[in-house]
Amino acid sequence: MSDDRWGELILRSTRVITPEGTRAASVAVAGGKITAVLPYEAEVPAGARLEDFGDDVLLPGLIDTHVHVNDPGRTEWEGFWTATRAAAAGGITTLIDMPLNSLPPTTTVNHLRTKQEVARPKAHIDVGFWGGALPGNVKDLRPLHDAGVFGFKAFLSPSGVDEFPELDQDQLDRSLAEIAGFGGLLIVHAEDPHHLAAAPQKGGGRYADFLASRPRDAEDTAIANLIARAKHLDARVHVLHLSSSDALPLIAEAKREGVRLTVETCPHYLTLTAEEVPDGASEFKCCPPIREAANQDLLWQALADGTIDCVVTDHSPSTADLKTDDFATAWGGISGLQLSLSAVWTEARRRGHGLEDVVRWMSQRTARLVGLGERKGAIEAGRDADFAVLAPDETFAVDPAALHHRNPVTAYAGRTLYGVVKSTWLRGERIVSEGEFAEPAGRLLERND
Ligand SMILES: [Zn+2]
Repeated sequence: MSDDRWGELILRSTRVITPEGTRAASVAVAGGKITAVLPYEAEVPAGARLEDFGDDVLLPGLIDTHVHVNDPGRTEWEGFWTATRAAAAGGITTLIDMPLNSLPPTTTVNHLRTKQEVARPKAHIDVGFWGGALPGNVKDLRPLHDAGVFGFKAFLSPSGVDEFPELDQDQLDRSLAEIAGFGGLLIVHAEDPHHLAAAPQKGGGRYADFLASRPRDAEDTAIANLIARAKHLDARVHVLHLSSSDALPLIAEAKREGVRLTVETCPHYLTLTAEEVPDGASEFKCCPPIREAANQDLLWQALADGTIDCVVTDHSPSTADLKTDDFATAWGGISGLQLSLSAVWTEARRRGHGLEDVVRWMSQRTARLVGLGERKGAIEAGRDADFAVLAPDETFAVDPAALHHRNPVTAYAGRTLYGVVKSTWLRGERIVSEGEFAEPAGRLLERND
């Protein structure tokens, strides 16, 4: 590297989270990349700009691989402008958009191109796309893979929107065989339709009734089936939004056997409990559901021991009117994009975990999941200069009206959370600071393998 180019910008903090641990350091940035992680006292090169964050923590920007942006088509629920601003304000610098709830869904290359065109001018952070595996679109999977989607999402039970139907067993086998054939990744909403159908469906506003309608064994059975199929085809699969702790032993066993399986969970399963959901409060409704406190303890253990790989938001908003007080018919989805880092950090610190753990779960491992592990997810020379600056000991009370996602609905309303994001940086540029946003400079990402 030439001397005048290696350090246009120096970011300095007494607490920089690097893959080797947290230390005082000066991070040199040029051309949008990290060029060196230097000693704290390193001399600032002539002409370089210094940003000194004092004792605020400098961490790699989070990579959220599970976000429903809904744009175009259901933009009144959420859009790229609002979602990427909310993400940026929460310290997220890359999101991967789910293929459903937008119209069209991301199930053909043409649909992908439509989504990319809509996203490009609105993206405040980097944005990539998942494709969808539907009954009848096996022929579209390879072209979507070649066009750069990061993998394929499938449902095994109804998705909640008519245009994105679930796969039956035979269709799952065919899609998975096709995806495995070109070395792709299948990501699965794992709830078994027969177990759901057999569960009591009382409807109404009691959370206990809703919880009973989405039992753990629906998840456990679907995951066991998926593991069996992955093993049979030597396919790579990922379990989305794990809620049932009863599935953990079979996941751990499959991983020990070498099945190519990864698993995510979400902030709401880790920080909210069934016991505290008020009746009628459908801002807490998601599928699979938020379960009991004892279940949550086991999810935390599984994160700590690596049975669960990562934490992603599953931000899935709707307009407020769809969040009715009947759990059976209210829209299922939690809005937590902007709050995910603070929510997870608040509970992590209470349970004795460090911010390094949170970074591993929400940045390093998610980057790796989508093949961006060489490019993002760590403060290390050669990576994109994407950062969040966090005051980990400061608290704030969640005011839904102050959040940047489109509809001011969130299950975290009124909670006091630790961890205030002071600023977020994308390729060496500050994209938000104290609620002030720069012009959108996010890029559209494609899978590169
Ligand atoms: Zn989702």
